[in-house]
Amino acid sequence: MGSGSGSLLWFRKGIRIHDNPALEFASREASNLYPVFVIDPHYMKPDPHCSSPGSSLAGLNRIKFLLESLVDLDLNLKNLGSRLLILKGDPAEVVIRCLKEWNVRKLCFEYDTEPYYQALDVKVKSFALAAGIEIFSPVSHTLFNPTDIIKTNGGKPPLSYQSFVKLAGEPPSPISTVYSSLPPVGHLGSCDISEVPTIRDLGYGDAEQDEFSPFKGGESEALKRLDECMKDKKWVANFEKPKGNPSAFLRPATTVLSPYLKFGCLSSRYFYQRIQDAYKSMPKHTLPPVSLIGQVLLSPELLWRDFFYTAAFGTPNFDRMEGNRICKQIPWKDDDRLLEAWREARTGFPWIDAIMIQLRKWGWMHHLARHSVACFLTRGDLFVHWEKGRDVFGRLLIDSDWAINNGNWMWLSCSSFFYQYHRIYSPTTFGKKYDPNGDYIRHFLPVLKDMPREYIYEPWTAPRSIQTKANCIIGKDYPMPVVSHDSASKECRRKMGEAYALNKELNGLVSEDDLKKLR
Ligand code: FAD
Repeated sequence: MGSGSGSLLWFRKGIRIHDNPALEFASREASNLYPVFVIDPHYMKPDPHCSSPGSSLAGLNRIKFLLESLVDLDLNLKNLGSRLLILKGDPAEVVIRCLKEWNVRKLCFEYDTEPYYQALDVKVKSFALAAGIEIFSPVSHTLFNPTDIIKTNGGKPPLSYQSFVKLAGEPPSPISTVYSSLPPVGHLGSCDISEVPTIRDLGYGDAEQDEFSPFKGGESEALKRLDECMKDKKWVANFEKPKGNPSAFLRPATTVLSPYLKFGCLSSRYFYQRIQDAYKSMPKHTLPPVSLIGQVLLSPELLWRDFFYTAAFGTPNFDRMEGNRICKQIPWKDDDRLLEAWREARTGFPWIDAIMIQLRKWGWMHHLARHSVACFLTRGDLFVHWEKGRDVFGRLLIDSDWAINNGNWMWLSCSSFFYQYHRIYSPTTFGKKYDPNGDYIRHFLPVLKDMPREYIYEPWTAPRSIQTKANCIIGKDYPMPVVSHDSASKECRRKMGEAYALNKELNGLVSEDDLKKLR
């Protein structure tokens, strides 16, 4: 083994041809190239116990997005004389089987900082090393290499955005290799190869979901979307400004490139370079302000992404409260009734419920909409554990990303990174600032479509005659609020104050017993 001149290219994320260092290395001087993707049934298998279609780990929207991305990759590979080889099973076992079957000299795959992939990679790498197969596993999912940043920072990840930006410097440029063809796929032996399955092949029925996400997966779609964003100079000039309108759904206020970055259909380095090029072509007066470190602050959103990746990679137990040294220990409530009301869009607050319906139907919501519902579930109103909300987002978002999702949930629940717990998003007035007529609510909660504008954010205050006229009786057709925002938010502030004091007193080392006393 390891004597041939074939390469196995293992796609996990990085589902693209452009700026793909693993592909470039794998195809260099290779007689054969085996581009592989392993479908892990654990990730894809329908779970009938979930309250919305999908597996226990991923909603159907994300599964569909991934399959579309694979179809697109297969097509792009076919245009270069290759194809995508789909296999099924435990990814580590399958890749090891392929390495045994095909006489390859190189194993190439993108480095991944997520614990799931780290564990997988240990198994595959140890087999390849023992078999004398060369391994190439470059960092290409993020702008920077989190390991380098942690090393430069003395072994710990920087925990503020400013210190991260100071350390980071300029990211490497994307590689610009353009292929006219790729080495052919070699002999496949007894490996069980299939085409990219459809959602039906995976066991999902036709009527499983009535509305799918409007965002289609794939590198081609990602590059098209990026080109469209870059054409809009005003958008580019405003890219660094905080966020825009969370209720804009017909034309979202941000790029909606997150799902493409998540699966690596779009390279973050290429995206960064395109923003830089766009800035260079703009008149000076429209440029964004100069940052703390004296540079024009280019692509701060992408730097946030890298910030969370670095913090996550350098923090043990980043995905939980317990044993996580950067996470405040807070006595969150264990209230399944409130959690379910939030998850199932039945809180009685139309702004919150409309966002949760958008999550379920589209798998994507604007950043500030995510802020609203995350704050509401945790420190704003319901005082439910951020890990529970993280799981719901983790399953349903099409851009669901381990580092970014956990990082933002800790942020929004004031468990880490951000600590102004007295600043709470109002579930009734925040959305109104952007969308006084409630068009967003009317779209995602059609039961409220005829509610007059003055009651759309607080329909329980509408007189009965108005509710009747709007065909929506509160308490019957749409729920009463699960809490009173005024008293619930006051109580949340009080509990957060107590928990913060205890965390300070005990220097963050709050025991389970201490937490019980606070509950
Ligand atoms: P744009 O504003 O166009 O930004 C471009 C890119 O920058 C994004 O695609 C994303 O990769 C990155 N980015 C933007 N904002 C952030 C941020 N706050 N943190 C890190 N990276 C950012 N984003 C995810 O990609 N996956 C998640 O699982 C995820 N979970 C979140 C959970 C909560 C509770 C919150 C509040 C935010 C979460 N975000 C997550 C961050 C953010 O909301 C999305 O990245 C953004 O809304 C995606 O839309 P966009 O591509 O149009 O963003």
